[in-house]
Amino acid sequence: MKIGIIGTGYVGMVTAVGLAELGHNITGTDIALEKIDKANQGIAHIYEPGLEELLKKHLKAGNLTFSHDLDGTISSSDVLFVSVNTPQQEDGSADMSFVESVSRRIAENLNGYKLIVEKSTVPVKTSSWIKRIVCLYKKQDYDFDVASNPEFLREGSAVKDFLEPDRIIIGAETDKARDILTKIYKKFQDRILITNIDTAELIKHASNSFLAMKISYINLISDLCEKTDANVELVAEGMGLDSRIGKQFLKAGVGYGGSCFPKDVRALVKIGEDLGVDLNMLKEVDKVNTARVERFVEKIKKALWILKDKQIAVLGLAFKPETDDIRNAPSIRVIQALQSEGALLRLYDPKAAENMKEEVPESAKVVYSDSPYEAVKEANAALLITEWDEFRCLDLKKVKELMANPIIIDGRNIFEPEKVRELGFEYYSVGRE
Ligand code: NAD
Repeated sequence: MKIGIIGTGYVGMVTAVGLAELGHNITGTDIALEKIDKANQGIAHIYEPGLEELLKKHLKAGNLTFSHDLDGTISSSDVLFVSVNTPQQEDGSADMSFVESVSRRIAENLNGYKLIVEKSTVPVKTSSWIKRIVCLYKKQDYDFDVASNPEFLREGSAVKDFLEPDRIIIGAETDKARDILTKIYKKFQDRILITNIDTAELIKHASNSFLAMKISYINLISDLCEKTDANVELVAEGMGLDSRIGKQFLKAGVGYGGSCFPKDVRALVKIGEDLGVDLNMLKEVDKVNTARVERFVEKIKKALWILKDKQIAVLGLAFKPETDDIRNAPSIRVIQALQSEGALLRLYDPKAAENMKEEVPESAKVVYSDSPYEAVKEANAALLITEWDEFRCLDLKKVKELMANPIIIDGRNIFEPEKVRELGFEYYSVGRE
């Protein structure tokens, strides 16, 4: 069985390498030709722990290759995983034009039975549209199936998540499609849940929105904590000890970002609207999240009053640790707010600086630093926006000596308030004194 991966971005690249590691023959293709060229040289275009090692391993073993040729990849594959982007549109809905375009190309190159697998996050009912498009555009009368196999990997631990999944969701409506996917994921047979396609599509949006809801929930609770003597870290710990609640995704902070949660919550709201179901609760989740950055900027102003010409170190740019992804990162909105107030910024991130330079170019008022220590030199305040381990291990005595004013505004509760204050810092964090 030959498997083609269409769209080798974060998900497609990890899927290609992950399926190769499961022993399959994989060809990845993408319209971004530079990604393909790099991949064929054993270079991953994204930073993801363990990815490049496996990429090199399977290129060498010969069961993984990357091609510029979309049509050729379609005609030579039995199974096609579609992992193209489904970005948010102005009205909140997912832009399905990339999926539609790929569906047409598959139709035009149908040269035998093919299983088309939705790997991208798509609105419920997308499979019906893919089927319709393939039927409308196919030139030869071959059979095909569409199935849903949503991806649950987390950036930063994507390879591990792919190879040690909690569950494999297979939404299929024919025995053939179900059997092919079950065979592909044979190694995880104890973790496979088979559903119809609508259910599988909805599982992905429902899961992401639920996790986003947990984050917004604890952030709301953190606001209450700030008005009282309660400590949000301990509230979350106390809640998480209840096995019905669980500890994960109860970290108060500057809110969620990334290419999935913000867009998936809004897409589900729109899906509800289109289907006549009011998902008001999720609108609130989004609203609470958007307000986090504003609250964080208020804390900076509380500490510094006037931001104009203040030198501020921004530690952490990626939307989460262990990734170079800055899509929808809270850091972007914080930086924009500080720029509009005329602050002088020194930015540092272990992996995401190059990506951020495209969003926030270097200028007289924005400098990218090579180390956190360089960033905090002469700073009037240091902001922590991404919880990289590197920041947990900072030599705070050295940081204090380097800063003009020892003020830390911690948007991820990385440090213990007492310890930092003992060292002589003025310290602000989220939902605790
Ligand atoms: P991405 O933007 O990194 O990758 C998408 C890739 O598809 C790009 O490289 C793009 O060039 C390519 N592409 C677009 N049109 C194409 C075409 N016609 N032919 C070939 N390639 C084409 O996006 P991503 O983060 O990998 O996400 C892909 C999908 O997976 C989205 O629906 C997303 O919501 C979902 N998802 C993402 C994550 C995540 O953590 N990033 C996790 C689970 C699911």
